[in-house]
Amino acid sequence: MKLAIGVDDTDSRKGMCTTYVAALLAERLRRLGEVYELRLVRLNPNIPWKTRGNGAVAILAEVEDVDAALELAVRTVEELAETGEEGTDPGIVACEASRSERLRRFYDRALHGVVSLEEAERIAELERCWTHRLKTGRGVIGALAAIGAELSAHTYELIAYRRRENWSKPRQVESASVVEMDRATKHDTFNNLDPETGRVLITPRSPCPVLYGIRAWRREVLERAMRMVRAGEAIERYAVFKTNQGTDAHLMEKDMAAVEPFTSVIVKGRVAAEPRTIRGGHVIFTIEDGEAALDCAAYEPTGSFRGVVRMLRKGDVVRAFGGVRERRRLTINLEKLEILELAEQWVHANPLCPCCGRSMESAGKDKGYRCRSCGERADSKIRRRVERSLAKGLYCVPPRAMRHLTRPCAA
Ligand SMILES: [Zn+2]
Repeated sequence: MKLAIGVDDTDSRKGMCTTYVAALLAERLRRLGEVYELRLVRLNPNIPWKTRGNGAVAILAEVEDVDAALELAVRTVEELAETGEEGTDPGIVACEASRSERLRRFYDRALHGVVSLEEAERIAELERCWTHRLKTGRGVIGALAAIGAELSAHTYELIAYRRRENWSKPRQVESASVVEMDRATKHDTFNNLDPETGRVLITPRSPCPVLYGIRAWRREVLERAMRMVRAGEAIERYAVFKTNQGTDAHLMEKDMAAVEPFTSVIVKGRVAAEPRTIRGGHVIFTIEDGEAALDCAAYEPTGSFRGVVRMLRKGDVVRAFGGVRERRRLTINLEKLEILELAEQWVHANPLCPCCGRSMESAGKDKGYRCRSCGERADSKIRRRVERSLAKGLYCVPPRAMRHLTRPCAA
């Protein structure tokens, strides 16, 4: 039987990683049959009580002995999950792997909105899925969504894991080898490094079993990329996940009036109020479309991206991409910005002399302007168009500030 097993919420801020549970479970399931896909699914990144990553996993396998497979799943989750930590509420869901419209829609809702545990359990029941909960079992939501995920657009991530004795120690991944790997696999891998700071992005900063993760557009490149990365410790195991990372799957085109908090949107509008830098170095501006208005924010960690935002002027037409938060008014936390039209900018300046081309000077109050060298005169100031230093196009926040789901600009 083709079985899909979803797992979520096994980790805490102090340790573990649900992908590690999946990698180990997949190895164990291989004794019972064939594992043909590991999925890492990122869900709605705007849920305030979830970690930034908000990821769940699913394993697709062909097994004869379903009971033995489910038992393995329970045993592996119980063995590894950080159930001693508050807020870690693991859930396991297993269904016959098939294309179910209802499950696909559930994934969509978990990606774009907020879903309840009750809703997840109702759908699991309707779909005749087996569920197993530890503690509150809130992980059933992500587990079910990972099973339902439609990854028509997808990327891959190879995750290399550390030996248990190293889990809390600093990672020693040689930066120069990551730079080389990045260069050698350009166009096939993404977000290995942050170009602005040179920071290595393949290593996480949490005390989890992950040594590093390499993200790729093509699966074929990943093992070669892994062999190029040098580390001061052994890799215990690795697994390749099919994922919705880097696909923009979370973003939905919306009319401004229909934008809701906790969703991720693409909204077109005209700049109504010029960018202002607030305390902490965040840059905020307002867009409108005649019916509604929204704030857009480029927060301090987005670095040089704020420089682009600061060059916006009233009347510019943009598409704003990002997650919606509720501040004084609804605010888009910018992930990207597309500049569609640039408003003309004019300044009032002293007239230029027709003889020598130099700027005239005031001849005194209400006396017009005069060229000091030639004596040429003019009555009033002139309006001069200013070249905009900003170019139309798509701009992204730097990779270090990018969300897992966001498709990088260069891609
Ligand atoms: Zn002159």
